[in-house]
Amino acid sequence: MRTPTSRRRRPHIAGGRPVWLFDLDNTLHRASHAIFPAINQAMTQYIIDALQVEMDEANRLRTGYTQRYGATLLGLARHHPLDPNDFLKVVHTFPDLGSMIRHERGVARLVAALPGRKIVLTNAPESYARAVLAKLRIERLFEQVIAIEHMRDRRNWRAKPDHAMLRKAMRDAHVSLKDVILVEDTRSHLKHYRRLGIRTVWITGHLPRKPHADGVPTRLPGTGRPHYVDRTIRSLKSLRLGTRSVRLKGQQGRQPCSRSTSPTKP
Ligand SMILES: [Mg+2]
Repeated sequence: MRTPTSRRRRPHIAGGRPVWLFDLDNTLHRASHAIFPAINQAMTQYIIDALQVEMDEANRLRTGYTQRYGATLLGLARHHPLDPNDFLKVVHTFPDLGSMIRHERGVARLVAALPGRKIVLTNAPESYARAVLAKLRIERLFEQVIAIEHMRDRRNWRAKPDHAMLRKAMRDAHVSLKDVILVEDTRSHLKHYRRLGIRTVWITGHLPRKPHADGVPTRLPGTGRPHYVDRTIRSLKSLRLGTRSVRLKGQQGRQPCSRSTSPTKP
């Protein structure tokens, strides 16, 4: 696995436990507003141009590889002779990124208020992740950005929810899995990683809404809390509340994120 460049120039950030692993898209900001549609369109166009296929086939490959491997890139790299780094760069470059970003009010304050270490773990490339974090003004709050380029091993591209990748990344960061709290919008990632003994928070506030028959957005079906989710939250605000309440109990148990302290449910 490659070493994130951020590790060489780690900012001065308070350490300790817990160790928050934050997903990026639809967790720290609302990628489903404009960025995801643009990435999907760019990926489809890239596949059309690179593989000389029709749009329907390109969309089929894009969605199929995401479902099968966790990221379109992994399927493209495995099955087609194209340049993965060029693909990542082309489909994640947005000259007007700032206008595409939507996020919670006070996101920097909310993340900064959380005790412990903070790391970003994203299947996106590093340049895009850092550009988004910079627009959100929260890049300095994270000691590392573990992006998809850093998840590679000698032979293969890897991505969430790969177990070996996460174990290696946490070993390299000197993090014990029992101290990790993963905050994610993607349920399959939470499900796979819960098996490693880490704690899981499912954030749902940025998930796309399904249009109701009368035009009013409604919540996606199946957003009840699954067994592999320790807490469901809609907003990062709830993380702080949950951590505070647990801190009061902290002398007896180190559970900054537990079912009993869950203030929110969808
Ligand atoms: Mg996400």
